[in-house]
Amino acid sequence: FQAEDGIRDRSPSRGLGDVYKRQSEPLVVVVSATGKTTNQLEELIAKKFTAPAESMQLLQLVKEKHLQIVKELFGEIPAELAQQIHEHCVEAEWVIEEEREMAYDYVYDQIICIGELISSRILSAWLQLNENAIEWIDARSIIQTDDTYRDARVQWEVTNDRIKNTLGPLLELQKVIVTQGFIASSPENNSTSLGREGSDYTAAILSSGLGADGMYIWKDVPGVLTADPDLFDHVTKLDRLSYTEAIEMTYYGCKVIHPKTIQPLKSKGIPLFVKSFLDPASEGTLISDDLDLEYPPIVVLEDDQSLIHFSSKDLSFIAEHHLAHLFELFKKHRVKVNMMRNTAISFSVCVRNDPQRIKALIKEVENEYKVLVDQDLELLTIRHYQDAMIPKLLEEKIVILEERIRKTLQMVVKNAPAIVPKKSTS
Ligand code: ASP
Ligand code: MG
Repeated sequence: FQAEDGIRDRSPSRGLGDVYKRQSEPLVVVVSATGKTTNQLEELIAKKFTAPAESMQLLQLVKEKHLQIVKELFGEIPAELAQQIHEHCVEAEWVIEEEREMAYDYVYDQIICIGELISSRILSAWLQLNENAIEWIDARSIIQTDDTYRDARVQWEVTNDRIKNTLGPLLELQKVIVTQGFIASSPENNSTSLGREGSDYTAAILSSGLGADGMYIWKDVPGVLTADPDLFDHVTKLDRLSYTEAIEMTYYGCKVIHPKTIQPLKSKGIPLFVKSFLDPASEGTLISDDLDLEYPPIVVLEDDQSLIHFSSKDLSFIAEHHLAHLFELFKKHRVKVNMMRNTAISFSVCVRNDPQRIKALIKEVENEYKVLVDQDLELLTIRHYQDAMIPKLLEEKIVILEERIRKTLQMVVKNAPAIVPKKSTS
């Protein structure tokens, strides 16, 4: 379960109200941070390295925002809840104040977790008002990962044991478990995180470990859509999706579900429902076993992309050993390749624009390669594309790189204002 962003909603007929209806069945509720909190925390983390005082001020704002939510929900601020929120903020304060040198990704994970810790505390206190047998669990005591901060890999054996031995008995006692998505811990007990939007993945890990009957993701959209309605017209909801199609879509950047979510569900055959907390009675999207489904075109647009071009300085062919070396470095610097193309003496990759990582990568290869970077690009992916739809999609865009394989068309594009003839002055 994931009750995302629905935390401010008091009406039991909407969103979190579904928690009550399912009380008779074993239930785990996985919460992500409240709207925009993770972005605010990211800002504050960046400031720790440049302006620690400002970082502290931003933390104060995050704290006040949550106290305000508590006030709205409860009419006052319950002392115990205030204390819990305070303690999570103090955890972050210590990290901000720490003067020894620490890696960015490590610091990020030690601070980012408070978004989920606080929201889950609030939710759990609020559910307790209605006398549910609620058990707040720190997800970091259940989900163990390696120490790849910001993109941690789950250590399945330990994690599954803990799920069975800790969560299993609580569910048998008819407790409703409230825990956090997105966050976990390393074997040394440092906080780790599973990548942005990782709460879905947490819910899938728990669902698979418990052999759940189903997993529900509660969103502010009616289900999985054929494109982002903020960016495109004529967007429709997909009623059903196969696991495979869902994996493809999320891999290409469809933000509605975290890309790693599907695999644990697929391996246990657990159906995934994507539903709207604004209209919980509506059907949403069901993602389940692969069937021969017919799909309409599905469009995914990823912004903030860069194309990195490598060309060999000595005009030697870019052959297997060059590519193997480059991929080693992509792995080392955690630069994820979204699309690629090679010619005799050059190799180009489209990646998310992460200036720090790209800079570190280039530094290592600039002796051997001439490197050029094009920024401000977008990656447009169309699954099940129809040729007729493409001109409209490419209005005011220039295509820089294009690739078609069976069901998928991918293009790296640049926004270009339409060229219009000048008004005649004579
Ligand atoms: N709060 C985290 C994020 O915003 C995780 C999630 O929302 O699933 O990325
Ligand atoms: Mg979220």
